Amino acid sequence: MAGVSTDEAMRRAIALAARGLGTTSPNPVVGCVLLDPDGDVVGEGFHAYAGGPHAEIVALAQAGRRARGGTAVVTLEPCDHIGRTGPCSTALVRAGVARVVIAVPDPNPVASGGAHTLRDAGVQVDIGVRADEAEAGNLAWLTSMRRGWPHVIWKYAATLDGRSAAADGTSMWITSEAARIDVHALRGTVDAVVVGVGTVLADDPRLAAEATRTPGPTECRDAFSYQLTVGGTVSRYIDCPSDAQRPPVTAALVDLLTRATAR
Ligand SMILES: [Zn+2]
Repeated sequence: MAGVSTDEAMRRAIALAARGLGTTSPNPVVGCVLLDPDGDVVGEGFHAYAGGPHAEIVALAQAGRRARGGTAVVTLEPCDHIGRTGPCSTALVRAGVARVVIAVPDPNPVASGGAHTLRDAGVQVDIGVRADEAEAGNLAWLTSMRRGWPHVIWKYAATLDGRSAAADGTSMWITSEAARIDVHALRGTVDAVVVGVGTVLADDPRLAAEATRTPGPTECRDAFSYQLTVGGTVSRYIDCPSDAQRPPVTAALVDLLTRATAR
C-alpha cells in the first residue's frame, strides 16, 4: 500500500473523531492516525467516551513497534496532564514517534502543553493542518473552553408560511419522518435538550434521543434530556435513571437562557 500524506491522514483523523460526538462530554472529540516511516497507516483511534482511552493511546496500542520513527496525526494537541488516563505526550515519546502533526492547539489550561513536552523530547511538531475542519467538529467543546459558556443550537420547525402549528392545536407534526430522524440524531450529539415553559405546558414533549446510539459505556447518554422553564428554574427531569447521570444545569446555561429570553 502506498503511503498517505499527513493531510489525508488528518482528514481520516477528523472523520474518526466525529464518531465520538455525543458520548465524550465533558471531553472533546479526538481522532488519531499513526503512520510508519513509509507513510503507511499502522494505527487508528478515537476518543469514544469520557474516562475511556484517548485517541492516541488506542492508535499506539494498534501500531505497537511500528509506530517507532513514524508520524502521529491527531486532531487536537495531545494532552500533557495525568488525568483519568496518562499523558498522551509522554506515551508518544515513549513509543518513539518522530513527528506529531496537530490540527488544533488545546485551549484547556489543565491539559495543554503537550506540544511543548514533545518538542522538548526532540519530536518534530507541526500545528494547524486542517485546523478549520477539526475546529468545526469540536465546536461545542471549544466554545465552552474558550468562552466559558455552552454551545447552543436553536432547533426550529416552521411551515413555508412561517407557522409552527395549526391555530386550533390539532397538528401533531409539521415536519416529515426524515426530519424527525434528523432531530433525534442531533439530540444524540448534545448534552441537554431544553424547551421553553410554553412548550412544556402545551405539549409536554419527551425529549430523549431515540435509537441513535449503540449501547455501551455511555448508553445512558440518550437519557440526557431535561426540561427547563425559561425563567431559569428547572421544572423537572425526565428519563434519567439516576441522579448521577443527570447533566449539571450550569449557572452559565441558566444565565444565557435568562438573558436570551429577556430581550
Ligand atoms: Zn490524551
